[in-house]
Amino acid sequence: MSPETKPEKKDSCFFCEAGKDPEKVIYENELFYAQLDRFPITPGHTEVIPKKHIDSLLDLTPEEWTLLQVAITETVHLIEALDFKKIYTEFADKPINEKSAWFCQQMLKHPGINKKPDGYNFGNNDGEAAGRTIHHLHIHIIPRFNGDVEDPRGGIRHIIPGMGNYK
Ligand SMILES: [Zn+2]
Repeated sequence: MSPETKPEKKDSCFFCEAGKDPEKVIYENELFYAQLDRFPITPGHTEVIPKKHIDSLLDLTPEEWTLLQVAITETVHLIEALDFKKIYTEFADKPINEKSAWFCQQMLKHPGINKKPDGYNFGNNDGEAAGRTIHHLHIHIIPRFNGDVEDPRGGIRHIIPGMGNYK
């Protein structure tokens, strides 16, 4: 990719800046912060993000992995205490853009809107081939609710269409 078409500078990006905004940050430790996704696919959809501009999960030191583990665990505890209905009503009323408003309105109709999650998908798109669009590590925490899809078996295997079900 040529420098003209590269979407962002190498040493700073959207996620570097978002970590400095106390309105967006729902959790932080020395190295990581968490924010709610403004284009949520399920209620409570959150990202855990390093404060430093680290590209890949494979670039983390053992110490950073430990802090990531703490960040994910603590963020899940926070998600379980959130009032999803209040959050997405506010997000839909003051959206960052039209697309975000639509996603947040979908959450208000979601079967999990008044529930605590029953499970989670944890995910990282590491590299453009894997679907990465912002080149700053972010781990998706995607809460799941019993009955949110007809047959959840296979989970993240469904990232390759048609290959999720091996039964
Ligand atoms: Zn960054």
